Amino acid sequence: MEACLFCKIIAGEIPSKREYEDEQCVAFHDIHPKERVHLLVVPRKHIPTIADITDTDSPLIGHLTYVAKELAAKLNSPGYKLQWNVGKEGGQEVFHIHLHLMGK
Ligand code: AMP
Repeated sequence: MEACLFCKIIAGEIPSKREYEDEQCVAFHDIHPKERVHLLVVPRKHIPTIADITDTDSPLIGHLTYVAKELAAKLNSPGYKLQWNVGKEGGQEVFHIHLHLMGK
């Protein structure tokens, strides 16, 4: 976890363009945006992949979705994709779960 990029961003040790934060999560702009709006909604809790979540994480996962929807509205995105990349074979590069919000 010491070496986790997103833990370091959450801790403020690595800079990011932060759009939102609360007690459960942080949302910042993707460094290589694929759409006009491309945010990563990241829980403060370090969980490597969606394959590692348990039932107790269900409220947290729901909260991340809610935050993404609120941010899409705040940034005036009329339509967007919410995406989890799961595991190396699923295109995941950073092993700290994050919800991609990608919108026009
Ligand atoms: P994934 O492939 O789902 O693991 O997505 C990781 C995302 O993190 C990619 O879209 C990267 O562009 C993004 N990323 C990597 N490093 C940074 C960083 N320092 N700040 C913001 N986004 C980053």
